[in-house]
Amino acid sequence: MMSAMHEMSIAIKIVELAEAEARAAGARRINRVEVEVGALAGVLADSLRFCFEAACRATLAEGAELAIVEIAGLGQCASCGEEGPLAELLALCPACGGFMRPLKGRELRLLSLNIDEREG
Ligand SMILES: [Zn+2]
Repeated sequence: MMSAMHEMSIAIKIVELAEAEARAAGARRINRVEVEVGALAGVLADSLRFCFEAACRATLAEGAELAIVEIAGLGQCASCGEEGPLAELLALCPACGGFMRPLKGRELRLLSLNIDEREG
């Protein structure tokens, strides 16, 4: 499934970044990873959670919790300036039919890590 492959590659990238940061901090374990995912980022939260669990195996993040902060889509019309909720990237302004530019909802980034510090 293309969609699952997409979330899997994102999950692997998240774990890679989290591990790199944890190692730099001298941590021996990652407890929790918080990510921000926009509604227009093309990522399904449930798929991402499932893939994350698999991607964490045999890493510092094994068993870690994935906290997903979902950001709703928001757009602004390029013609009349009307702002409103945006459910998809390619949409027309409900007021004038102009193109909607996405303001929010394309986020896909690491927000924070909860790690155990090195012993001793
Ligand atoms: Zn408009």
